[in-house]
Amino acid sequence: MTAKNPQKIKAASNHPDRPGERCQADPGTWRPRVDRSKCEGKKDCVEVCPHDVFTVERIRDADFAALGPLSKLKSLVHGRLTAYTPNADACRACGLCVVACPEHAITLARGA
Ligand code: SF4
Ligand code: SF4
Repeated sequence: MTAKNPQKIKAASNHPDRPGERCQADPGTWRPRVDRSKCEGKKDCVEVCPHDVFTVERIRDADFAALGPLSKLKSLVHGRLTAYTPNADACRACGLCVVACPEHAITLARGA
């Protein structure tokens, strides 16, 4: 399991673009969405999320098939790793993952 990274959490907490005004939203009202064409499986999201929403694992075949040619190539270069959100129901919309992701692959969306 990937450990939390205190330095990255601190940097994300202080990031001027963090959508922190939604901090402590009720669980399930906001969810992170991962743009798989941008995600490079770098795990910053895993390292900063206080509610263990993310895992980084091998991209599923259907998700890989849905990528465009350049994104497929990029995925192969990065070992076919990508972020999934098995614990999305626990998201409290703190915004840390949004600003921690170096690829700007995460957005928060209301509801499912
Ligand atoms: S969503 Fe961003 S931070 Fe998370 S694994 Fe993908 S590239 Fe890394
Ligand atoms: S917004 Fe906060 S609680 Fe929700 S997935 Fe991102 S880091 Fe985790």
